[in-house]
Amino acid sequence: LKAIRYSLFREVAFAGDVISGPKLTALADFVNLLANHYPTARTDERQLVGDAVVGNVRLNGSRGEQAKAVFGDLSDWLIAQGTDARLSISDWQNEFMAAERRHGSPFPVTAKWQHCRGSSDKFRGFTCGIWTSLHALTVRVYLDNVADNNFTALPVLKTIRNWVDHFFSCRECRGHFILLTTKLYSMESKAKQPHDVFMYMWKVHNTVNARLKGSDTEDPQYPKYQFPAPFLCPQCSKDGIFDEYQVRQFLLRYYTDVKRDGVFAQETLKFL
Ligand SMILES: Cc1cc2nc3c(=O)[nH]c(=O)nc-3n(C[C@H](O)[C@H](O)[C@H](O)COP(=O)(O)OP(=O)(O)OC[C@H]3O[C@@H](n4cnc5c(N)ncnc54)[C@H](O)[C@@H]3O)c2cc1C
Repeated sequence: LKAIRYSLFREVAFAGDVISGPKLTALADFVNLLANHYPTARTDERQLVGDAVVGNVRLNGSRGEQAKAVFGDLSDWLIAQGTDARLSISDWQNEFMAAERRHGSPFPVTAKWQHCRGSSDKFRGFTCGIWTSLHALTVRVYLDNVADNNFTALPVLKTIRNWVDHFFSCRECRGHFILLTTKLYSMESKAKQPHDVFMYMWKVHNTVNARLKGSDTEDPQYPKYQFPAPFLCPQCSKDGIFDEYQVRQFLLRYYTDVKRDGVFAQETLKFL
């Protein structure tokens, strides 16, 4: 929640003074995706990684539901503006704050990162929260559409790519992501099956992990590895080769029930 709020409220402002044309479409499509599929949890279920804790209180499902209602209002508002609108950043931010207030301010603005806490402030945090949110979101999209024979992964993945392209403030990240997803490992050629909506993101993220291994943005306490490591999912790989069926099962469980990697690993091993 913290990463998504930062992304929608702050990162949008880095992208220029006016939101219009393809930028407006990218924003409207992404917010619509969140409004329809943002993963929420019932209060008796565990919350997603990437969310934050306020004091000792774990954010529960009702915050997720409130956030989804915020995205719903924002999506309706964007649609009402029409595709030819030219929105100022302050129009958007004012609307965002009004929607937040209407739905009980569900976003933990000042809370500390939980799963994404780095060994110092310069590591992890926001980008980790964004990856985590995108994985959880695409898993949710898959689960929400599992009975729909007409569901295809590509439109969802394109919505995410357009969002990154227009609103992700890290220029280097954006450039690499667009190159990867349009040319080196294009989503148009690779995302064929419904489950590719989350498996494609898994593969792309592992490509990024491999490229960043040993770079100066790698948190020394959280070294990059090909995910999931055997300690998280022993049956997912053998001699460094992934069994994609097992990875699929793992991701479906992990991104509907996740905590810090170490804690999850122990719990997983108990019921495997
Ligand atoms: C779209 C995008 C592009 C980026 N490009 C760059 C770049 O070019 N240069 C740069 O320096 N930084 C880039 N970053 C940031 C970088 O990928 C990491 O987010 C950052 O280094 C923090 O890493 P982390 O250790 O917290 O884990 P992250 O890589 O952020 O991962 C977050 C969590 O996701 C889970 N995870 C890891 N791999 C996978 C996987 N394959 N599938 C599913 N779950 C997984 C783990 O639980 C992990 O803790 C990019 C981020 C994004 C969102």
